[in-house]
Amino acid sequence: MSRPMEIKFLKGVGELRAGLLAKELGIETIRDMVMYFPYRHVDRSGFYPISQLGENMPALQVKGRFISFVTEGEGRKKRLNGIFSDGHRMMNVTWFSKIDTISRIYHIGKEYVLFGTPKCYRGTISMVHPEVEEYDPTRPPVGLRGVYSLTETLRKRGFTSRAIHDIVERAIEHPAFSAMPETLPPEIVERYKLMPLHEAVRAMHNPVSARQLQLATERMKFEELFYVELHILRYARRRSRSLSGYVFPRIGRLFNDFYFKQLPFQLTGAQKRVLHEIRDDMRSGRQMNRLLQGDVGCGKTMVAFMSMLIAADNGCQAAIMAPTEILAAQHFESISAWAAPLGLKVTILTGSTRTKARREALEGLASGEIQLAVGTHALLEQKVVFRNLALAVIDEQHRFGVAQRARMWSKNQIVPHVLVMTATPIPRTLAMTVYGDLDVSVIDELPPGRKPVQTFLRYDDNRMEVNRLVFSQLREGRQVYIVYPLVKENEKLDLKSLEAGYERVRETFKDYSVCFVHGQMKPAEKDHQMDLFVSGKARILVATTVIEVGVNVPNASVMIIENAERFGLSQLHQLRGRVGRGADMSYCILMSRHNVGRDTKKRLGIMTETTDGFLISEADMQIRGPGDMEGTQQSGLAFNLRVASLARDGQILSRAREAAEGVLDANPSLVVGEPERSVATAEKKGLPLAASSIALLNSEIAIRFDKSVDWSLIS
Ligand code: ADP
Ligand code: MG
Repeated sequence: MSRPMEIKFLKGVGELRAGLLAKELGIETIRDMVMYFPYRHVDRSGFYPISQLGENMPALQVKGRFISFVTEGEGRKKRLNGIFSDGHRMMNVTWFSKIDTISRIYHIGKEYVLFGTPKCYRGTISMVHPEVEEYDPTRPPVGLRGVYSLTETLRKRGFTSRAIHDIVERAIEHPAFSAMPETLPPEIVERYKLMPLHEAVRAMHNPVSARQLQLATERMKFEELFYVELHILRYARRRSRSLSGYVFPRIGRLFNDFYFKQLPFQLTGAQKRVLHEIRDDMRSGRQMNRLLQGDVGCGKTMVAFMSMLIAADNGCQAAIMAPTEILAAQHFESISAWAAPLGLKVTILTGSTRTKARREALEGLASGEIQLAVGTHALLEQKVVFRNLALAVIDEQHRFGVAQRARMWSKNQIVPHVLVMTATPIPRTLAMTVYGDLDVSVIDELPPGRKPVQTFLRYDDNRMEVNRLVFSQLREGRQVYIVYPLVKENEKLDLKSLEAGYERVRETFKDYSVCFVHGQMKPAEKDHQMDLFVSGKARILVATTVIEVGVNVPNASVMIIENAERFGLSQLHQLRGRVGRGADMSYCILMSRHNVGRDTKKRLGIMTETTDGFLISEADMQIRGPGDMEGTQQSGLAFNLRVASLARDGQILSRAREAAEGVLDANPSLVVGEPERSVATAEKKGLPLAASSIALLNSEIAIRFDKSVDWSLIS
């Protein structure tokens, strides 16, 4: 293809403005320009009589003439007041800057169209800094008009939303625009009844109706999501073709002995189903890459352990990696207890494992004498060598970066099966993109007998009532968590309020022993304090979110979250999951300030209304947007969807994914022009698939918007 047409060649743009647009908005070519879509549209379909204007109206237009201009005030208070009349009523128009220019370019008596938001003060209508255009009777009133975002610099240099719109119009009229090829395969445009590219781009900028705008927007969103899915799926398929895994044909003595003789309870239907899925993966010959989602307390550890038994039954090793030492210790405890009667050897490896124990562990893992390993990321260190690691379970995945997952993979000749477990439920739309290369299993059932945790929102003036509840639970022999926020930016202050809180709790509940844990303690001290609580010696645990993940103390029945307004939804949900694991009735009390923002109020409200993790994560994504969600950040994903939103466009995403699947089915060795290079780079760098597909997203979308995709390459 010839060089893309630069915008400086457009009439009225020139080097200077082109330079500004390139620097401020990254717009260089005609393609960039027409793809710079408005962030909202305003109604310019008619003119409002001034008599109908009032407070709380959206931006709208008024037609009339200026009757006078008066400059008022001095220095920084200087302003220009115009009186504007539509022939019946008058209103004020005020400017605080560019006063000299304005009084020079606008003339009394000439007919203008003003566009702005009306304000009403003591019965007088006014507009501040409206857009002003000369009225042109030959030009029909536009319907919806786009509003474009601008940077501060652009504004200072005299760019307005209107100016951008004018440049876009000229770009659309330029032959280079009509020469732009359709970016979606024709069959897809047809099958999904999408608006063709040129029509959609025009309608994004100048829709004639709300319906047309809607169809255009859907088409652009579809396109964006289609490419995201295309690449993720292509990776997933390529990987599944190229990576072979250990093949475990049989379920053996260990699994069966455990299942029939030892298992202390009945597996839930969901646990059984997931075990089947894992088992099918493990005998398929392909390397497993499975994400196991399940709400807190649904019993993921048991599923992990029984999967590890399948590896052991086939003469291989398995490891489980937890994000914290406390969690690793808990896993080690339960897994050793389950494994001992089977004659399996288990070891634990964390940052604080002593030299001698460490040496023994390393030797045992290298020789294969130890079959199961539990640990933190210490398991990933170079010195740790397994004889034949066949299954790596990663618990509470969102704490591990993708890069770490990659390291785990590269330890062996044969890549181990990977099972990633998370209790942060990921909305389906997000899972399809962020974890698009993983197969997903869901445990959507809690073990029988669990009672939903009763959740209340309380304020400081309810402290007495809250204390009464705590006392009554303590008297029944229960244990209590009290959690404080500890946020990096606020570390010093938070630590102080945590310590103050601890003192207060000790005073209030004098007759009960209280322990204390926070992230900045030495690991040994932390473990000691944690042990006090786990063993039941301490009845109240005052802590920061270090206890968020996985800690299991069934006797605990109250979770008090101080400054709950400062926690995210999924964090609150995780914390609440620490209770309701054994006691007859459990309580979660969210302590909050009275005056909090709207989103915060919503968040806390949702917590009191539902205990369903999936509903909560959907709501979380709606409130915060997917970019902010823990899962996305941790996975290193930072993609900029320009039109689509993962939170809102789930349906379009599903269709786009289906379309992408179809294209890949028909073209197994799909090549999409340029982006192929970044695929190669990612692979050379040895990035794991999720990471590489994510790395692609940005460059990908960027590339696609300034170079046309050559569909003739697809054969
Ligand atoms: P999570 O999925 O949050 O990691 P755990 O694996 O820690 O949950 O399980 C929570 C508790 O439920 C543990 O005490 C575990 O032994 C118990 N549990 C797991 N599965 C079942 C089951 N099918 N029936 C009864 N209790 C179960
Ligand atoms: Mg767990």
